[in-house]
Amino acid sequence: MEKDCLFCNIVKGNTDTEFLLETEDVVVFKDIHPHAPVHLLIVPKRHIRSVNDLTDEDRAIVAELLMTGKEMARRQHVAEDGYKLLFNVEYGGGQRVFHLHMHLMGGKKW
Ligand code: 5GP
Ligand code: ZN
Repeated sequence: MEKDCLFCNIVKGNTDTEFLLETEDVVVFKDIHPHAPVHLLIVPKRHIRSVNDLTDEDRAIVAELLMTGKEMARRQHVAEDGYKLLFNVEYGGGQRVFHLHMHLMGGKKW
């Protein structure tokens, strides 16, 4: 837990953010500024800054993020039409919250 990290605080339940799913290692909540009818964030509970900071020991959490994205797409009824799973990596890649997260976006035509 990083004291000043927004997503660490959300993960800890320090905000009124509603979780659509919570497992031992991951939480899922709605993006506050959605870019699509379905726009969820899949977030590891452990603080990892970005994709650049992943190590070999993180293989299991990476797999869980992806599989959770797939499952949430099914539950949100966007799986069949199709959807995006996206990591923004560091400032130049569009990342603005420096706690690893995967975007799930669906429900519109791109
Ligand atoms: P990034 O640009 O870092 O990949 O994505 C961060 C995302 O977090 C943005 O899409 C932004 O709308 C979302 N976000 C920022 N602050 C909050 C918040 O306090 N609550 C929620 N639910 N989403 C947030
Ligand atoms: Zn954090």
